[in-house]
Amino acid sequence: MATARTTRHRVLVVGAGFGGLAVARSLRRTEVDVTLVDQHNFHTFQPLLYQVATAGLSAEDVAHQIRGIVRVHGNVRFRMGRVSDFDLDRRRVLLDDGEALSYDSLVLAAGAVYGDYGIPGVLEHAFMLKSLHEAVDLRSHIIRQFEAAALDERASDEGRLTFAIAGAGPTGVEMAGALVELFAVVRKDYPELAGTRPRVVLIEPTGAVLPPYTPATRAYAERTLRRRGVEVRLETAVRRVAPEWIELGDGEVLSTRTLIWAAGVRAHPLTERLGVPLGPGGRVPVSAHLHLPDRPEVFVIGDAAGVLGDDGRPHPQVAQVAIQMGKHVGRTILERLRGSTSAPFRYRDRGQMAIIGRSAGVAELSRQLGGGRFGGFLGWLAWLFVHLIYLPGHQNRVNAMATWIYNFFTYDRHARLVLDRREQAAEAVRTATAPRPGAAGDGVGGDGTEVREPVFR
Ligand SMILES: Cc1cc2nc3c(=O)[nH]c(=O)nc-3n(C[C@H](O)[C@H](O)[C@H](O)COP(=O)(O)OP(=O)(O)OC[C@H]3O[C@@H](n4cnc5c(N)ncnc54)[C@H](O)[C@@H]3O)c2cc1C
Repeated sequence: MATARTTRHRVLVVGAGFGGLAVARSLRRTEVDVTLVDQHNFHTFQPLLYQVATAGLSAEDVAHQIRGIVRVHGNVRFRMGRVSDFDLDRRRVLLDDGEALSYDSLVLAAGAVYGDYGIPGVLEHAFMLKSLHEAVDLRSHIIRQFEAAALDERASDEGRLTFAIAGAGPTGVEMAGALVELFAVVRKDYPELAGTRPRVVLIEPTGAVLPPYTPATRAYAERTLRRRGVEVRLETAVRRVAPEWIELGDGEVLSTRTLIWAAGVRAHPLTERLGVPLGPGGRVPVSAHLHLPDRPEVFVIGDAAGVLGDDGRPHPQVAQVAIQMGKHVGRTILERLRGSTSAPFRYRDRGQMAIIGRSAGVAELSRQLGGGRFGGFLGWLAWLFVHLIYLPGHQNRVNAMATWIYNFFTYDRHARLVLDRREQAAEAVRTATAPRPGAAGDGVGGDGTEVREPVFR
């Protein structure tokens, strides 16, 4: 990519998630040149990843190619690449392919990763739900458990049909509700498993599900989950994780091959490369204008930023915060260039919502919006409506809406496909090792070179 100096102000945005895209949109068709860098060529709509993992939506429905989003902006270019380091003194960002991109203003919007709180085995054995690939892998793994159980009736005793979720925040609750619904469909696919009941165990160290919500909402969510068959374990933490079991805080060992980790995030490790002391959760302490205290040209936004709200607590790591921060930084850059002073960032909290499952959602408006609360069918409809509005891409919206309507009336989950990377890798090895015409024999390719054994069996 050409990085020749132009006279126009160059804004480099790292990360095309909610925050990064909001910066690009707020600077579209203005006097600056924007380069948006992301390791993927698509934006992932993370709030719907759990639906991909539970076969409710296809992977393509919750992602949108970034070039398709920015091509109408005129002054915004996309560069696919993984950022590995920063040279803030020379105003350069380094990519792992060796290229360096120069900037006048830098916005770091690389999001967050799941934190393991130092619990042994989490990083090695738990399933995380942060990327599209992880969602597809988890879905494939879940279906593989059913395939294995169908072959061997002892499999459910070995924990193949026990699915544990750590963390009963919105992601854990949504995942638990959706798994129960998936199992209702999957059960019909496996007559061999008649009489077996898959388990969903939701594990939460505090005393309630959906901890940030009001007591009435928490009680409704817990009641609904239990009624639908989820085993809710409160005041219990995961202490150790192994491939075929997990150990809980009270010493109980639960046989399971599936622990889904929804127990909190920490800022993306790229924040460590900024060379500044980090705050709790690895978040970067930034000024009220969202830049590094001694580098006004370096902004950090979204899940990676540590800014305190009026209540003295850090803003939640949610999409609305990232979007509002992105818009604010876009405005700040333009105001600076135009010689005016910008106002400090203030988060306008609109409230929070989560879905428990079919016809059961919860929505709480913020105090600024009147503090109303509604649950059940209305909460569910509100959740669907808001997510459809924010899902990028007209086709994605049409697909998601059509699929939801179809699923609602048929109770189906159409994307029950095993498409994980493990299977793709095995397929590639099998293809590479298949005898070709003229092959000299087992273990030797047609050209006489040695062929490696398949890695996966
Ligand atoms: C499963 C799940 C469900 C969620 N549900 C909700 C919800 O219902 N409502 C809600 O408000 N919030 C929800 N969130 C949180 C919300 O998604 C985040 O708060 C939001 O995405 C943060 O935006 P961001 O711009 O900071 O980072 P992200 O949106 O995470 O974007 C970060 C971008 O940076 C890119 N990137 C990372 N590292 C590099 C690198 N080295 N080089 C180049 N690019 C890089 C990534 O590919 C990604 O595109 C959920 C999160 C998850 C994981």
